[in-house]
Amino acid sequence: MEKVTIRSTDLKVNPIGLGTNAVGGQMFYPNITDDAGRDLLKTAINQEVDFWDTAFIYGPKRSEEIIGEVLAETGKRNEIVLATKAAHEMIRGETIINNHPQFLERAVEEALKRLQTDYIDLFYIHFPDEDTPKYEAVGALQRLKEKGMIRAIGVSNFSLEQLQEANKDGYVNVMQGHYNLFNRKVEEDILPYTYDHNISFIPYFPFASGLLAGKYTKDTTFEEGDLRLKKPEFKGDAFLKNVEKVEKLRSIAEGKGVDIAQVILSWYLHCDEIDVVIPGAKRSEQVVENLRANELFLTEDEFLFIDELFDE
Ligand code: NAP
Repeated sequence: MEKVTIRSTDLKVNPIGLGTNAVGGQMFYPNITDDAGRDLLKTAINQEVDFWDTAFIYGPKRSEEIIGEVLAETGKRNEIVLATKAAHEMIRGETIINNHPQFLERAVEEALKRLQTDYIDLFYIHFPDEDTPKYEAVGALQRLKEKGMIRAIGVSNFSLEQLQEANKDGYVNVMQGHYNLFNRKVEEDILPYTYDHNISFIPYFPFASGLLAGKYTKDTTFEEGDLRLKKPEFKGDAFLKNVEKVEKLRSIAEGKGVDIAQVILSWYLHCDEIDVVIPGAKRSEQVVENLRANELFLTEDEFLFIDELFDE
């Protein structure tokens, strides 16, 4: 497997990373266990899936804690490139979004403890707050970078204006945003900016929470409490139409001897703005399967066919 450098950083990773919101993520997926999360991480280590994406709010805290435990137990910390995020502050049972420099400094210190490490490879401001000037928030992270506590700076869920303000001094390395073939809004504004400013764009929800992975049928149902039931792509007629569209990719996948999920990942990696993807997984087999996207090559015609199929 050939590693890629995440654009302006010195982070070199397998382009197929791992989104870990299911690790300790019982808040999102009611029936997941901590042990299933540990298995996912150990499989990732064995398969050289070395770019892990977590956040304070996954759990909350539990995803980072489990990652810290597994890395301490296996002694593999230096083989993994760890990305985490913060912005949620819990005050007397209420959650607010905070980007204040002091809050971010404390958030990094606390994440380091949970992750049982003395550096974080990529630290993101998870969501923008309303008050903090974004260059001040990023300036705080730049100081932590100079101290060696973090190695790269990311922002997530920022609008174009917030990203421009955050990058006033040119310190932003990565922007993580909601992007997949069903949700392409960032193509209008964010992607041209990140590309022009040498910022790596990392799409989250690359499978639209599983819908683009090609295994749902019109009869698929979800457990009560599963957050997917609240998403527009999963509702009524839209769900049926979406499943039909994804099914149109089956012949490309079969022609290459892979599943639709890997064709989808390969499509993102074909985009000039994207260096790496962070598909989520709930079972170890999915981690292994998704790696096969590394062996794929989409022709320009296949890339454009998929582009047009989802361009509505
Ligand atoms: P996703 O990557 O779009 O979908 C992941 C789901 O797809 C899995 O849980 C699994 O669900 C299914 N799947 C994965 N591999 C598969 C395969 N090979 N075959 C068939 N199905 C497969 O959604 P996500 O996990 O929510 O998002 C990815 C990552 O992005 C997260 O883990 C997190 O790290 C990050 N994220 C960031 C933000 C942010 O605000 N920055 C927000 C959301 C997520 P089933 O098995 O249930 O079908």
